[in-house]
Amino acid sequence: MYLNETHEQVRDMARQFADEVIRPVAEALDREERFPGEIYDQMAELGLFGIGVPEAMGGPGFDTLTYALVMEELSRGYASVADQCGLVELISTLLVRHGSEAQRDRWLGPVLAAKTRVAYCITEPEAGTDVSGIRTTAVRDGDGWVLNGGKIWIHNAPVADAGFVLARTDREAGHRGMSIFIVDLHADGVERGPKEHKMGQRASQVGALNFTDVRLPADALLGSEGRGFHMMMSVLDKGRVGIAALAVGIGQAGLEAAVDYAQQRRQFKKPIAEFQGVQWLLADMAKDIEAARLLVHSAAVRIDRKQDATKACSMAKCFAGDMAVARTADAVQVFGGSGYIRGFEVERLYRDAKITQIYEGTNQIQRMIIARELVKNGARA
Ligand SMILES: Cc1cc2nc3c(=O)[nH]c(=O)nc-3n(C[C@H](O)[C@H](O)[C@H](O)COP(=O)(O)OP(=O)(O)OC[C@H]3O[C@@H](n4cnc5c(N)ncnc54)[C@H](O)[C@@H]3O)c2cc1C
Repeated sequence: MYLNETHEQVRDMARQFADEVIRPVAEALDREERFPGEIYDQMAELGLFGIGVPEAMGGPGFDTLTYALVMEELSRGYASVADQCGLVELISTLLVRHGSEAQRDRWLGPVLAAKTRVAYCITEPEAGTDVSGIRTTAVRDGDGWVLNGGKIWIHNAPVADAGFVLARTDREAGHRGMSIFIVDLHADGVERGPKEHKMGQRASQVGALNFTDVRLPADALLGSEGRGFHMMMSVLDKGRVGIAALAVGIGQAGLEAAVDYAQQRRQFKKPIAEFQGVQWLLADMAKDIEAARLLVHSAAVRIDRKQDATKACSMAKCFAGDMAVARTADAVQVFGGSGYIRGFEVERLYRDAKITQIYEGTNQIQRMIIARELVKNGARA
């Protein structure tokens, strides 16, 4: 196949970690909505954070395909754990691409070691899909800045030490008037909202952050002033590949559970796996999961080859998210009533899958991007 030895080794290591460490506690983490810090410490030791960070900057320097393989395997264990890996990948990619040497020296080590928890803070009450609606402002004050505003539904907000915050630095300049700041979330003027109670991925801690006259030093600015929107967009492709891989992992976990159950559960004096109606559910799950996986890998390879990956990443994210929701619903169906009961893995997987159609750009937006690229570049590009 197209995977090289390194891809297979890292994938197998992540798979073993998921089987031995993540899967056994996934149900409890979901039930307790608990942040699994001890799992993240182990992942940091294994080098599973900041997968794409170059060796010269203290990371393992793996390609995007490796990242996708790891995301799928971790998510097959539990999507909330993979989500943390995806968040760190996004933040570390921002730092690698746009951070100053001093910022990389200060932040990359502790972030990859899971000592400093990070949050990526874009969404606001009036600015979801339409990021241009953000109202958080950073105003120059002497050498530094003063930050005011608020963010909602921020992953890690209840536990994070540092927030990468998109703020307006020029009200008149539209997309060019936004900048990203690295904000110490223990500073005066930072207030955390309560933790949200979510449908799925319940071990991921999500909440609001409010900023009142938070003083930021000059070196809190990431990259240059006015480049925040551009920087945010520059990591979107990789972010979408990550979420698409996460969705594939959820689907794969559902398939494995459904195949096992269909062989064990007997009705009409035979395993339900012998009924064609059940077999077709399993077959549809398997083919769609594999199709999504191939889309993810193809998008990842485009990024690694520095080819235009926008359409490929949107197709992967959209297809994989829709697939995960539809095919985990099939897994519930194979389980019958048991699939609807808390404590059965497929019930959680179905809930965990839903958000993959919403975050990292909703699937309507992915379709808009795919169509825009088709119209711009033609159907064969
Ligand atoms: C669990 C969770 C974790 C999250 N983590 C983070 C995080 O860490 N950081 C962060 O910044 N944000 C985060 N978010 C926010 C997430 O990115 C937004 O929810 C998402 O971007 C959609 O925005 P919205 O919810 O405001 O929906 P809206 O933008 O209000 O959209 C509502 C509906 O309208 C559709 N719609 C909107 N515009 C269009 C259009 N032009 N054409 C067609 N349809 C359209 C959407 O597809 C959607 O179906 C998180 C959200 C959740 C639920």
